[in-house]
Amino acid sequence: MNKKGINKKELMDVLNMHDISPSHPRYRSLLLRDKMAQAYREGILADSALIAHGRGEAFDYIFGEKTNPPAIKAIRAASATLLLAENPVLSVNGNTAVLAAEDMVELASLLPAKVEINLFYRTPPRVVQVERVLKNAGANEVLGKEGDDFLPLKGLEGPRSRAHPEGVYIADVVLVPLEDGDRAEALVALGKKVITIDLNPLSRTAKKSSITIVDNLVRTIPLIINEVKRLRECSRQELEEIVMEFDNDENVSSSLELISEYFKRDEDS
Ligand code: ATP
Repeated sequence: MNKKGINKKELMDVLNMHDISPSHPRYRSLLLRDKMAQAYREGILADSALIAHGRGEAFDYIFGEKTNPPAIKAIRAASATLLLAENPVLSVNGNTAVLAAEDMVELASLLPAKVEINLFYRTPPRVVQVERVLKNAGANEVLGKEGDDFLPLKGLEGPRSRAHPEGVYIADVVLVPLEDGDRAEALVALGKKVITIDLNPLSRTAKKSSITIVDNLVRTIPLIINEVKRLRECSRQELEEIVMEFDNDENVSSSLELISEYFKRDEDS
């Protein structure tokens, strides 16, 4: 209890972002933060997931919390790549499940693609929780569950090397929001096209992936859904042209330029 008779819990409730008006400039960001913190308390997320989210928030702040032109270009190439894929797989980690389970499930049924759980800090209870979140979001089939078969991916060790024999292991295209650099590199080395969503254009994942969407996954996945709906009217040749025209290194550099412009603007003002 403090002097005003408010105990810590009540104080936290007052500070809880639900009390912050929707007109608050950081409202949406605070809402997502609250969702993440709640999921951590429920045991869905590891503590490191919150750190990863915080890093993402910092970059999102610099990018103006909006989807910028390089991301729109990458979303187009990613959507065309997913439509051309023979065995597309959507890889879901804890952060993605908490922030965008319904959108991931919608995208999976639209393509169609398989959904596979892939946790950096894999523990049986967390896998069960993520599976529950995906099922509640409408997923019929989820791969990478506890007790599922798995095969090791060459170049990786431990739980990070797990791949479902009918999922990531045989996938030609894998959408992995928030992958780590080693795994992205290993997947690419195995000949898979890796589409990642990562707000940090400096990360190894951003540099190693085939297509890097530098944007917040909560904005990106609905945009991919819209783009897939639009592009599915296109011929294979048209889709292939979209993919061929896309240069990932150049596009990641454009996102880096946005960061330097942000700091220059700040210096000038
Ligand atoms: P790398 O190995 O690729 O260099 P890392 O493994 O060090 O990166 P992590 O610490 O795992 O990266 O952080 C995950 C990444 O996900 C960070 O780069 C962060 O910017 C990004 N990120 C976090 N939240 C989101 C989000 N909601 N949307 C998109 N990207 C996000």
